[in-house]
Amino acid sequence: MEEKYDVIIVGTGVAGCFAALHLPDDKSILMITKGELEESDSFLAQGGICVQKEEEDYESFMEDTLRAGHYENRRESVDVMIRSSRDVIRELMEYGVEFAQKDGSLLYTREGAHSTNRILYHDDITGKEITSHLLNQVRKRKNITVLTRTTMMDILARENRCEGILMKTSTGDLRPVIARDVLWATGGIGGIYDNSTNYPHLTGDALGIALRRGVALEHVNYVQIHPTTLYSQKKGRRFLISESVRGEGAVLYNKKGERFVNELLPRDLLTKEILKQMKKDGTQYVWLSMMTITRHDVWKRFPNICQKCREEGYEVTKEWIPVVPSQHYFMGGVDVDLSSRTSMKHLYAAGETSCNGVHGANRLASNSLLESLVFAKRAACAILSGTGESPQGQGCRDWRELERTYGIRQKDYENEEHYFGGLKKAILEEIEKKNREVEENESNHNQAKCG
Ligand SMILES: Cc1cc2nc3c(=O)[nH]c(=O)nc-3n(C[C@H](O)[C@H](O)[C@H](O)COP(=O)(O)OP(=O)(O)OC[C@H]3O[C@@H](n4cnc5c(N)ncnc54)[C@H](O)[C@@H]3O)c2cc1C
Repeated sequence: MEEKYDVIIVGTGVAGCFAALHLPDDKSILMITKGELEESDSFLAQGGICVQKEEEDYESFMEDTLRAGHYENRRESVDVMIRSSRDVIRELMEYGVEFAQKDGSLLYTREGAHSTNRILYHDDITGKEITSHLLNQVRKRKNITVLTRTTMMDILARENRCEGILMKTSTGDLRPVIARDVLWATGGIGGIYDNSTNYPHLTGDALGIALRRGVALEHVNYVQIHPTTLYSQKKGRRFLISESVRGEGAVLYNKKGERFVNELLPRDLLTKEILKQMKKDGTQYVWLSMMTITRHDVWKRFPNICQKCREEGYEVTKEWIPVVPSQHYFMGGVDVDLSSRTSMKHLYAAGETSCNGVHGANRLASNSLLESLVFAKRAACAILSGTGESPQGQGCRDWRELERTYGIRQKDYENEEHYFGGLKKAILEEIEKKNREVEENESNHNQAKCG
């Protein structure tokens, strides 16, 4: 009853696409996405993508990333990311990605907690520019099959070895698919929160499945809140006002119209200050003025942001806009090594769903597109160099055999809402558990100091 591929890639954002493009044409690849191809967070990235501009930038890039991450980063992962950055940018440009330039030279912008300008950008739609070019390349490859509106429900795993996935197709059919290797590139967890900048269908499914199947996770409580999203009373995805807006000179005001903070603090610290100010003022937002940006014509530099604000009733060149912190990014995830290998054989994870330790406790702005690309490429290389016999899945002719072999029972997946509700609950409980552990450790530490 199974279909077979060499590699299954779950997710069609930058991580999934870049990995697929680094596998050779003679590998049969299945890529699936829960939504349409344009519905990934990779399309939403506004600010840009970091790069090591020149050799001398290495130390400060490293230090900025470590400082933002509260020195909880895995240094060797940051090193790999920085040292691979120029190659990745070159590859993107070869695929046709255009970054802002002046007189033939690349332009670099800056965001919070960066000590220098090192971020390449394409207007304020850098993610769309990169991801649509990667998808165009994917479409050209005859060895890659892409299925949209198709959801990974579970993995087929036995004896700590992944042998494929169970997916629900756009027509609602449950289908097991066998592969020698599986890559999770399923993005973040914003969909499990009420206020998030992420697509709501990004509900951390890989994490939920990892919890069910005993795949190791890391730092699940490291959830980044973005300090400035457009305040709205409506439900749904929160619109991000990119950090580069503040990097280019926008300022924050309290309800009296006074500046109350250094706008370029790392995200977690700025978020704390904004929440403190909102409490003090008794408001649900603070104000952001883009009228203080004097280096550029704001409509030219941030066309997408200006347009979205206009649609919400704000003219950014004439008035301040209300902003509020929202869930934005997930630093934790499925624990992986430098080659994006998880704790389960033949199962890899890359992009926001994984944790290779690059971001530590807090992500430095514009490091995530880069990190996703670098470690997706490394996953592809590891899959290629990996050993291991082909999966034995041909033995499963029906659901009874699937249950015997992989513990997969058809009835568990029939009510999708109930099933994913269970995964969401498990993830939120795991986050809570970790937070409690941190609090307990801190309180023990403080008691020991006093004692
Ligand atoms: C508003 C916004 C602005 C940002 N700005 C920047 C920026 O300027 N610079 C920067 O570096 N980063 C930025 N980021 C972060 C960055 O965009 C993401 O971290 C990165 O794109 C993640 O890529 P990914 O491939 O891991 O995941 P995504 O691009 O989110 O893709 C996830 C994919 O997995 C699929 N999927 C999920 N679950 C399943 C399932 N069960 N079955 C099948 N498919 C599934 C989804 O449908 C999707 O195709 C921003 C993020 C947001 C939300």
